Amino acid sequence: MKVMAAVKRVVDYNVKVRVKADQTGVDISNVKMSMNPFDEIAVEAATRLKESGHASDVVAVTCGPTQSAETLRTALAIGADRALHIQTDAELQPLAVARLLKAAVERERPQLVILGKQAIDDDAGQTGQLLAALLDWPQATFASAIDIKGDVATVTREVDGGLEVIELDLPAIVTTDLRLNEPRYVTLPNIMKAKKKPVETVTPADLSVDVTPRLKTLKVIEPAVRKAGVRVADFTTLIDKLKNEAKVI
Ligand code: AMP
Repeated sequence: MKVMAAVKRVVDYNVKVRVKADQTGVDISNVKMSMNPFDEIAVEAATRLKESGHASDVVAVTCGPTQSAETLRTALAIGADRALHIQTDAELQPLAVARLLKAAVERERPQLVILGKQAIDDDAGQTGQLLAALLDWPQATFASAIDIKGDVATVTREVDGGLEVIELDLPAIVTTDLRLNEPRYVTLPNIMKAKKKPVETVTPADLSVDVTPRLKTLKVIEPAVRKAGVRVADFTTLIDKLKNEAKVI
């Protein structure tokens, strides 16, 4: 079985993002970029399927600028066998990414595509679901366990108030939640080995996909600064302030 993992290059989760002065987006110049954390979990899941004998080939795919190749190298160092870079400098919205991934799926014919449940930059949480709809494949989102037997995947999903276990006929789409696994530490020998693994580069035009944005960002603003709190002397003062100043009770 071939498994595809979708990986996105995003601002590192430790970076405190700053909104650009002209409010058109966040400033990503001179900022550390890394693989989206949920995508590391996706690559780790795909790699474990290979190690347990369920997958024969793991291909990592990214859509993005030249620098996204670094993210693919990380995926190869975790354990992917090959990588596909759909290279573009265009702004990519989830529908465009889903269309590009659909084209990649049609080329590669994987039985399972694993994506993150959300990218921590746009927080859209849409790409996996859109891809499943475009391919007309079953989907299991927010997976905390994946078990493959023959042509069926049993996936445990994190849902409000508990866990849901569902069975999907392959081919299928799975999106990862935090508890699915803990991605391995990427070692230097594996980084060296990754340099020799094949990376194919194509463009959206090669795949005949139109990536024109459908949504327009009107403006991006910082969240309101929280006012400093005050310490009140006693319970009666607290109730009085809540009633008469904050007017919340
Ligand atoms: P989103 O819908 O933007 O929150 O992204 C959900 C998931 O879709 C991510 O965790 C990735 O697995 C995948 N994805 C989103 N954007 C890209 C991209 N540019 N290249 C590859 N995969 C992506």
